[in-house]
Amino acid sequence: MNVRVEVVCVSADGVEQRRDVLMLERRELAMETLGMNLTEGKALLAGVQDFVVGRQVREDLEQRRACPRCGQPHTSKDSGNTPVKTIFGPVNVPNPRWNRCPCHAEGPKTFRPMRTWLNGRTSPEMLYLETKWASLIPFARAADLLKEVLPVGDSLNPETIRNHLQVTAERIEQELGEERQLNRFEGSEEEWEQQPLPDGPITVGIDGGYVRAAHKQGWFEVIAGKSVVAFRREDEGEVPSAKCFGFVQTYDDKPRRRLWELMKSQGMQENQQVVFMSDGGENVRRVQEYLHPKALQEERPQTCAEASKQLESVKHLLWHGNTEEALERLVNLLMELSLIQAHSAAAEKVAEGLTEFETYIGNNQEFIPNFGERRRQGETISTAFVESTINQVVSRRFVKKQQMQWTLRGAHLLLQTRTKVLNNDLEEAFRRWYPRFRAKAA
Ligand SMILES: [Zn+2]
Repeated sequence: MNVRVEVVCVSADGVEQRRDVLMLERRELAMETLGMNLTEGKALLAGVQDFVVGRQVREDLEQRRACPRCGQPHTSKDSGNTPVKTIFGPVNVPNPRWNRCPCHAEGPKTFRPMRTWLNGRTSPEMLYLETKWASLIPFARAADLLKEVLPVGDSLNPETIRNHLQVTAERIEQELGEERQLNRFEGSEEEWEQQPLPDGPITVGIDGGYVRAAHKQGWFEVIAGKSVVAFRREDEGEVPSAKCFGFVQTYDDKPRRRLWELMKSQGMQENQQVVFMSDGGENVRRVQEYLHPKALQEERPQTCAEASKQLESVKHLLWHGNTEEALERLVNLLMELSLIQAHSAAAEKVAEGLTEFETYIGNNQEFIPNFGERRRQGETISTAFVESTINQVVSRRFVKKQQMQWTLRGAHLLLQTRTKVLNNDLEEAFRRWYPRFRAKAA
């Protein structure tokens, strides 16, 4: 049996254009000759892509040919082509230069009509696939993978993919606003009180890991973490309750903004509790402090240590869903603080916060989940999730291949696309930049 695959393009006025894109020959039927194979599939896709692109561009040029003011056709200055890499192969997009219509007295003498939409050398979907896979596996393996399953062309190489990933990461970085000041929240307390009851506390776990620096510069630390919303009052479905983040501390100039935006994307409200956890070393604790400075710790280290110990046990009790005993401990702690708060503004502030916390627990007893139970069920709320995060965000991609060396910028940018991929946010970013990219069904 022979199979001939022909593509037919039907233009707006009903005119048909045809091209044969593939001939298949099948003799003996076997498992491996059943249907099309990968080579034939790639050839088919490349053939269709090339034909469709050609027809699309021709039709577009025909529609732009007439001057929108006087209707006279523009005359050609010179022809030209722009190569564009797509997921179904490199294509040559005709990109002619036309003379300005005589009815226009001003403006450049010539122009390229394709310039209105042709603003890159790589299709968004190609950029997306390169970025996504290179965020998860080494550049060379991402190149191999894409070349094996798609007719992307032999010229695709790890360096190109690295460049494209970094372009994407820089674009993500540019969307991040200015670094935030130490006070994390906007608005006044009166305004916060107007806000609806927030979801459960956000737990932010932070840890550090080391990756090998380029040019024999030893190792440098990368910070990774995860932000988890304990529970939600309403099931919002679309908003994931856990998201991870990462950055290179000595390169990043917006770590607070980064974490703030992440928590915002999880629905954080100004009146919501944020709990920080880390098992990490000195640097990690320092990061934690500048992300969430604690006034008391600086002023009264002893009281702070005692209060922390008490709070730790409250946390433990809440963790296991034992809200009644947690409330009792909180009340005790408040009484102790009341002895010093007249002399210490910081202690007073902490007491204020704890009173609110107490009211909050009291009002929400039935909503406070038993985290201990959840943990046994395999949900990711524990100090262990901090370690698993550093493994997920950093180790596999950065450390496993010991010979791989990183620049601060290279590691930081990869962390940005990697966390976007792990959080399932990369596709949405592309949709912001290219509104018709993988358009969602209405
Ligand atoms: Zn004209």
